[in-house]
Amino acid sequence: MIKIMLVKKIARSRPTLEGAGVHLRRAFGNADVPLYDPFLMLDDFHSDKPEDYIAGFPWHPHRGIETVTYMIAGTVKHGDSLGNSGAIHSGDVQWMTAGSGIIHQEMPQRQKGTLWGLQLWVNLPAKDKMMKPRYRDVKAQDLVEHKLESGVRVRVIAGKFKGIAGPVKDIVSDPEYLDISMPEAATFEHIIKSGHTVFAYVLEGKGFFDPGRQQTISAEHVVLLGGGEKVAISAENGPLRFLLISGKPIHEPVAWYGPIVMNTEEELALAFEEYRKGEFIKS
Ligand code: FE
Repeated sequence: MIKIMLVKKIARSRPTLEGAGVHLRRAFGNADVPLYDPFLMLDDFHSDKPEDYIAGFPWHPHRGIETVTYMIAGTVKHGDSLGNSGAIHSGDVQWMTAGSGIIHQEMPQRQKGTLWGLQLWVNLPAKDKMMKPRYRDVKAQDLVEHKLESGVRVRVIAGKFKGIAGPVKDIVSDPEYLDISMPEAATFEHIIKSGHTVFAYVLEGKGFFDPGRQQTISAEHVVLLGGGEKVAISAENGPLRFLLISGKPIHEPVAWYGPIVMNTEEELALAFEEYRKGEFIKS
């Protein structure tokens, strides 16, 4: 018998001011370590008012982590100190492994209607914290979308679904990152890799996230699941869209300040000292 996971924690994402003055919602972050290990943070920036996002995220360093930007609507332009630049448009994903260090800026572009993006931070284990920085840029049209008989649509960003791997591969935490849309009353079941941490973040609508069906969970809420082998999720009173994200926990100490996450305070201090001295970039 395959055991179905239960809801371990539900939290509403909280209004947070980030970057140069971006009003966003934080689903989880620094205060939640190590609950979502290997994931450190999930931010949801979602507004139809440019003054909420236009200040953007000017030049800042990252080390020891990966940042994953997924745009649902609108565009973020980015550039880094190595001379890389580009734009993440609606439906695109940028999986950036900062590794030993990247200094970059991420600037949401003014637009009519809603700008909507999500940024997930994924931790790196000690052995990979100083790995060479790299980007995985995925265009919306290169994401495979599975349409199931139940009407459920599953867009695969990372991990395998029905034997087909998503475009983001060879990531240290062996993540699965799915964007799932369900019609009213549909049910979705999915086996999670043994020992992996798994959570859902509701984008639109509401649904039940465990078989007990005690509590509906609505948009802007994060749900941590566990205690079983597969998830069973159903839409309630209309369509439901959510991210389902899992990965292998790292189980190491976390020393985190701002955009840099290492294992020890000494490594953290060294990173900031190198940044001040202009010695941050290693490759
Ligand atoms: Fe950044």
